[in-house]
Amino acid sequence: MKRYQLRIDGQSVDPAGAAWLESQNPYTGESWAEIPRSDERDVDRAVQAAHRALTQGPWAEMSASQRGMLLHRLGDLIARDAAKLAATEVRDNGKLLAEMLGQLNYIPQWYYYFGGLADKIQGTTLPLDKKGYFAFTRNEPLGVVAAITPWNSPLMLASWKIAPALAAGCTVVVKPSEFTSASTLEFAELFDEAGFPPGVFNVVTGFGGEVGTPLVEHPLVRKISFTGSDSTGRVINEKAARNFKHTAMELGGKSPNIVFADADIDQAVFGAISGIFAATGQTCIAGSRLLVQDSIYDTVVEKLLDVARTARMGDPMDAATQVGPVTTPPQFSKVLEYIAVAREEGATLLLGGERGDAPECGNGWFVQPTIFGDVRNDMRIAQEEVFGPVLSIIRFKDEDEAVAIANDVRFGLAAAVWTSDIGRALRMTERLQAGTVWINTYRAVSFMAPFGGYKDSGLGRENGIDAIREYLQTKCVWINSGAVAGNPFVMR
Ligand code: NAD
Repeated sequence: MKRYQLRIDGQSVDPAGAAWLESQNPYTGESWAEIPRSDERDVDRAVQAAHRALTQGPWAEMSASQRGMLLHRLGDLIARDAAKLAATEVRDNGKLLAEMLGQLNYIPQWYYYFGGLADKIQGTTLPLDKKGYFAFTRNEPLGVVAAITPWNSPLMLASWKIAPALAAGCTVVVKPSEFTSASTLEFAELFDEAGFPPGVFNVVTGFGGEVGTPLVEHPLVRKISFTGSDSTGRVINEKAARNFKHTAMELGGKSPNIVFADADIDQAVFGAISGIFAATGQTCIAGSRLLVQDSIYDTVVEKLLDVARTARMGDPMDAATQVGPVTTPPQFSKVLEYIAVAREEGATLLLGGERGDAPECGNGWFVQPTIFGDVRNDMRIAQEEVFGPVLSIIRFKDEDEAVAIANDVRFGLAAAVWTSDIGRALRMTERLQAGTVWINTYRAVSFMAPFGGYKDSGLGRENGIDAIREYLQTKCVWINSGAVAGNPFVMR
């Protein structure tokens, strides 16, 4: 088994408690790596290193253009090592190699894009209403950033935070999921090679309570950028609020995929399948509720079942596999529990519903692609995030009812509309409460496109030009161009 070390202050080091936890391969069910089980001592070491790098030494002195060049170099190194990093992610989270390779080949764009933005951060001069004064603003880095990430797309979701944070001049401590830490530890080694000064980027690994909590509570951390479940996000946000720390929260979803009778039905079925079965449904933007207009309900269901039935489960490293295992044993149990709940609630099981136990599934934690029909939106299966390959199909009559059902959940991460009527598409984009709305497509993301949630799906936005503002704070500088005069006891 490979034993990993922490990455702190540009060094590979053992955890203070000399303890490791095992990382398992979701396809074989076997432990394949040992991940440092850090505690608050490691967190303090990492945050102190990040704070030193922020306040003294080469990173603090560096021009924004030089920071941008380092980010570009890092992007090149990720591109060089994409295949290796993708294989590590598959070993840890069981997603298809094709998907992880696609992600790793795309991730460099985040470093090129935000690297290019680093030297475009500008303040403004103010057209003041007070004579004899000149004022301007500076946009300064917020400080040490704690980036806490989930297990589903470790390096992609970490990069959404790391690239803008470093471009803004912050320093970073990443805490990846205890289930999938290996790729972040391997990635951390590239920072040295790219030429980043020690302490700019650090990784602490281990359990949420032992590492995440002290990281969130550390007095030198100024921003917590979190991606994960809404329950953990709530705990972190409350803790951060107590000390006025900034937060960004990318949380869960229960996204509606809405198919109107005038849609290209084959395309909509394609979108519905990729919305829920790609990545085994383990994406925050999973299209877990399929809303279908009455008149085409039977046709859509039939076509959907025809395609979903052919899904090949198996080894995620095999190019022929279409659906991989669920990433963790607790998640596997949770998905099966939700299937039982849906049955009890009276939803009609149309496909799947069992553990995947075909020979190709090996010892993996597989759940068959599962489809429920006749779902009502007040059922738990329609309201709660399953984070697995489970689709709920719900009928609607018209636009008004589609909007009412779509918005009747506490989440608001994403939504899609399938229609050939441009007017309807535009009306729906106005009425849907979601941070992303796709028309006639599903699951598209880009480093250029702002991403984030409405309602309980989160706070703040990642990606796009404005994402860099999440890591900056504004200072206003006043200059008196004349002598100070008047009554010193009266504010001017
Ligand atoms: P999780 O909330 O269980 O864990 C996320 C991270 O938080 C892990 O690193 C974990 O160790 C850490 N953590 C746990 N308790 C903590 C605490 N008390 N203090 C600090 N850190 C703590 O989430 P998960 O199961 O790893 O990921 C699945 C969830 O992530 C789903 O709800 C999914 O929707 C969400 N997600 C959201 C997005 C998005 O961009 N909106 C993307 C991917 C996943």
